[in-house]
Amino acid sequence: MELPFAESWKIKMVEPIRKSTRAEREQWIKEAYYNVFQLKADQVYIDLITDSGTGSMTDRQWSEMMLGDESYAGATSFFKMKDMVTKITGFEYVLPTHQGRAAENVVFSFLVKEGDRVPGNSHFDTTKGHIESRKAFAIDCTIDEAKDTQLEIPFKGNVDVAKLEKELIENGDKVPFIIVTVTNNTAGGQPVSMQNLKEVRELSKKYNKRVIFDSARFAENAYFIKTREEGYANKTIKEICLEMFSYADGMTMSAKKDAIVNMGGFFATHVEEWYEQAKIKGIIYEGYVTYGGMNGRDMNALAVGLDENTEFENLETRIKQVEYLARLLDEYGIPYQRPAGGHAIFVDAPKVLTHVPKEEFPAQTLTVELYLEAGIRGCEIGYLLADRDPVTRQNRFNGLDLLRLAIPRRVYTDNHMAVVAAALKNVYDRRETITRGVEIAWEAPIMRHFTVKLNRLK
Ligand SMILES: *Cc1c(COP(=O)(O)O)cnc(C)c1O
Repeated sequence: MELPFAESWKIKMVEPIRKSTRAEREQWIKEAYYNVFQLKADQVYIDLITDSGTGSMTDRQWSEMMLGDESYAGATSFFKMKDMVTKITGFEYVLPTHQGRAAENVVFSFLVKEGDRVPGNSHFDTTKGHIESRKAFAIDCTIDEAKDTQLEIPFKGNVDVAKLEKELIENGDKVPFIIVTVTNNTAGGQPVSMQNLKEVRELSKKYNKRVIFDSARFAENAYFIKTREEGYANKTIKEICLEMFSYADGMTMSAKKDAIVNMGGFFATHVEEWYEQAKIKGIIYEGYVTYGGMNGRDMNALAVGLDENTEFENLETRIKQVEYLARLLDEYGIPYQRPAGGHAIFVDAPKVLTHVPKEEFPAQTLTVELYLEAGIRGCEIGYLLADRDPVTRQNRFNGLDLLRLAIPRRVYTDNHMAVVAAALKNVYDRRETITRGVEIAWEAPIMRHFTVKLNRLK
């Protein structure tokens, strides 16, 4: 008999979690203004709000933390981190930052100015925030297929090169660089193919532009290239990563994702002149250039995390758990962005809550319902997160409206996934009775989803 698949690790330390009653949750979510970001973590049973900084580190990472060098300048920890980043990406210049958006802030501070246009594939919310807060524009050139959640194609995160070329022809003088997000978080954790990265590279050369990868989940992207793209089955993840980054000039990284640390990030590049400018901004915003807001111990853990999470077995364990949750949803008929993404399942909320009008935010409504059902905290990646159009100030209802169930790395078991699927099924079974959603009572001018206050409509 063939042995079943199992995790490539065993568990050394555990953290108790607690269930709650429906009455408690009704009270708590009301006090949180129906915004799950305002809940206290101990009011949550299974927390799928994000896979960012929520992973479990390995014993090797923890042991490296004891060896952290907390020197202000030139710490051994910086060189451990820098050498590992260079080994995996090929980029020789590495600037630590305290997390991914900090790297965006540092880099965009000298690259993006008012009126600029930054084309890419579904910019992540902080990326969009850092562009729009500089009165520049994030131009979405994702393939149209990404909007059809039921369409099953292997590389749904791809850039539409025709859209990109059109932008470069029409507005090339306003484009400071092209940004490619791997994997494409906003489109559902969907990967970008090596072929597509190559095509973007060719266009960038033709129009004399540079390319930055928003790289939070580059290792998961490499896993999909290995398992789905012709010609890569026999390459190692590390070989694939090196090839991916050979098509970019620089990268911003949220190490809280694929480096599996609780905090950290960096900017890396082969462009010396970018590094020189980034250092100046980094010192102002983050800290001296050999720590950039990170502790020495965290840089050590990051180095090991990057090394370990660019090994196939670790990625396979993770992505198979996401696929397991997807299989259960298939069994119950619950529609989600297909195929399952690398780090999360994105439930297609308007297809579930068909009676809730878009003006009442179906995905946010579903997020609240799932919390009330079983204390499970997902996160809206939809019309609230899309913010208002910076010019017209209208809500943007043209994209997807998804409930994201992000799976922390090495944290929950498949039994927890079964609970999540069953809770979602219970909500799904009573979907016809859910006819009203939520309305905004207060919102911030940008990135409103973190702090928005909502009323639940009855
Ligand atoms: C998380 C993330 C960021 C921002 O990183 P933080 O560490 O949360 O600041 C940027 N881009 C993508 C694609 C992300 O997933």
